[in-house]
Parts: sequence; structure tokens; C-alpha cells
Amino acid sequence: MSREPCDACEELLQDFLDRTLTNDEWAQAESHLSDCDYCRRRYRFEETLRRYVKLSAVERMPPGLMEKLQQLRGFEADGLAPR
Ligand SMILES: [Zn+2]
Repeated sequence: MSREPCDACEELLQDFLDRTLTNDEWAQAESHLSDCDYCRRRYRFEETLRRYVKLSAVERMPPGLMEKLQQLRGFEADGLAPR
């Protein structure tokens, strides 16, 4: 079995974190998170990251930390910017 990232729920996850889901979508996201290991870990990481970013501005992060976080995420931190 390949461990493909869940492209389909990438968007759902962002909305989930932004709390912009309808009740139906919310339920869908929650049930997906409960049986998708990839998204669950991803969600926890994103949530932690967002909390951290809220607490202390990104610019105040020690040099290298943001890079490290981005490496962990595996992609650019575009998701942090409001849409
Ligand atoms: Zn998933």
C-alpha cells in the first residue's frame, strides 16, 4: 500500500482548521480524521502550528524554526496566510 497524501481532504482539513465548515462537512471531516492516520497527524500538527503562530508572531520565531516546521509539513507555509 502506498502512503499517498490525502489530496482530497487537504482542502477539507484547511477548512476544518479555519472552522468554516458546515455541520455536514464538519461531521465528514471528523469521521475522516478518525480513520485517516495521515490526516489525523496532519491535523494535530497544523493545529499546534497555528496555536503557536497565534501566540507568537512568525517573525519572532527563532531563526531556523520556521524552516524546520516547513520541513515537517513537507511544503511551503502557504496555509498560514488568510485567504
Ligand atoms: Zn485523509
